[in-house]
Amino acid sequence: MKIDFDVIVIGAGFAGMYMLHRLRGLGFGCRVIEAGSGVGGTWYWNRYPGARCDVESVQYSYQFDPRLEQEWEWTERYATQPEILKYANHVADRYDLRRDIRFDTRVTRATFDDKDSVWTVETDRSDRLVARFVVTALGCLSAPNTPKIPGLADFTGPTYHTGNWPHEGVDFTGKTVGVIGTGSSAIQSIPIMAQQARHLTVFQRTANYTIPAHNAPLDPHYVAQVKANYRTMRKRAKTLPAGIDLAINMASAIETPAEERQRLYQERWDYGGLGFMASFSDLLLNDESNRTAQDFVKAKIRQIVEDPETAKALAPKNIIGCKRLCVDTGYWATFNRPNVTLVDISDEPIETITPTGLRAKGRDYTFDCLVLATGFDAMTGALLRIDIRGRGGVSLKDKWSEGPKTYLGLAMAGFPKLFTITGPGSPSVLTNMLPSIEQHVDWIADCLAALRATGATVIEAEPRAEEEWVGHVGSIADNTLRSTCSSWYVGANIPGKPRVFMPYIGGLPAYIERCEAVVARGYEGFTLA
Ligand code: NAP
Repeated sequence: MKIDFDVIVIGAGFAGMYMLHRLRGLGFGCRVIEAGSGVGGTWYWNRYPGARCDVESVQYSYQFDPRLEQEWEWTERYATQPEILKYANHVADRYDLRRDIRFDTRVTRATFDDKDSVWTVETDRSDRLVARFVVTALGCLSAPNTPKIPGLADFTGPTYHTGNWPHEGVDFTGKTVGVIGTGSSAIQSIPIMAQQARHLTVFQRTANYTIPAHNAPLDPHYVAQVKANYRTMRKRAKTLPAGIDLAINMASAIETPAEERQRLYQERWDYGGLGFMASFSDLLLNDESNRTAQDFVKAKIRQIVEDPETAKALAPKNIIGCKRLCVDTGYWATFNRPNVTLVDISDEPIETITPTGLRAKGRDYTFDCLVLATGFDAMTGALLRIDIRGRGGVSLKDKWSEGPKTYLGLAMAGFPKLFTITGPGSPSVLTNMLPSIEQHVDWIADCLAALRATGATVIEAEPRAEEEWVGHVGSIADNTLRSTCSSWYVGANIPGKPRVFMPYIGGLPAYIERCEAVVARGYEGFTLA
């Protein structure tokens, strides 16, 4: 059988790009297949106004090459989508990656051939490529969720999804706009759309917590300091659960005197960003502790939002941090603008989209444009929209019918020679994605090199190891408050999706330790042939 490539990598975001770089360095013949016309993945598609990373730019970057780290200049504390995309393009140029990436091509099917032990990968451009190995680098939040609201196709104005935003941008000046959703994407874009639009109506099903970003241009002295100590900072970050170098207060919220607790929350609030959840170590373990943080943020909403009814509707009812915490610039204050209206639809779903707007709670709303800030079919969606067939023609869809099952988020029983970067069961979305991606890529690259060195050609996760890992991922999730609400972490945003807490919540250090132990024990839990 003719083999086209040693490895086919699906996706040219940060995972696919680094995978290509590593495999090339090891001398493997590699092809990356990418649906977009350029590199960058998430940052290629998510071009909505206000899109920026909620991890600080000096940490949300590759660390595999110290020279890259030193030469690249981030300009803001939180990088904008255009700046991150520029960085992705710089990396593609610097390492000459594009010549092995096929753009504008979507993988439709990947089939394992039991007899020859190879994968055949098919695309929407009629390619049929044979590879020894396949690595999926599809991203965790890359399959946009368009909710099945009746009448959606009947809306006569333009409809935009934040996760698939027009590349030419959208000018809302003078327009009336309806926004469905109040997750991270909405919280970032609403303040900017409100500045442009004649009127903005926000339809909120679940109120969300957000912490001010206090974004600002980066101080050159701070950047110089980071660059001088980059290795130490990166190393320290890897010892922390989220892979982000930030100070975690190990005290319990409930055991801290009220005045001191308030002072600490205020300090974190003034600093801004995701570090708010590290104010105390038990915010996601203890209901009562969590309530102290909820109360702090709710008091802020009441202070900022002038209309008491709107403030009440904006106050989240959930546990803080249960859904992914948001980071914003002027979100709540936006609801003080005369051209912004909040419609609380928490008790009744939208009845229908109409040709001129939508009907909710018996009332018609009209607008020129509709924005769906409705998120993603997270972690599994991008994998399942490819028809992946393992041993005996078994489809991944069938294997995952009761929820995703993987070994370490990296591989699956019944799907030999297929690796998933940041798959379900990996820490991924609960961590800084860049170091998590690099850890996965390095593990896979080293594994392929080790197989080659030993003459093994097949590697497959053992069902028992997979079962044990799935059980472990589930049982540690049950110990935290994070698994208790209806978030995309548990697939609750997609009707019919099995409710399973998908990411590994044990933290990056424990995960790295486990991955290293697996290797040290001769790829424990894998069958090599
Ligand atoms: P999301 O957090 O899933 O939010 C989607 C929103 O749409 C939610 O408010 C949801 O309500 C609402 N929604 C969905 N279907 C609906 C329906 N049929 N009717 C009414 N409302 C509906 O999605 P996202 O904002 O795109 O963010 C997803 C994740 O991407 C984030 O959690 C984060 O991890 C990542 N992200 C990161 C950044 C960043 O780095 N700053 C920015 C954007 C996104 P419910 O809550 O009730 O389901």
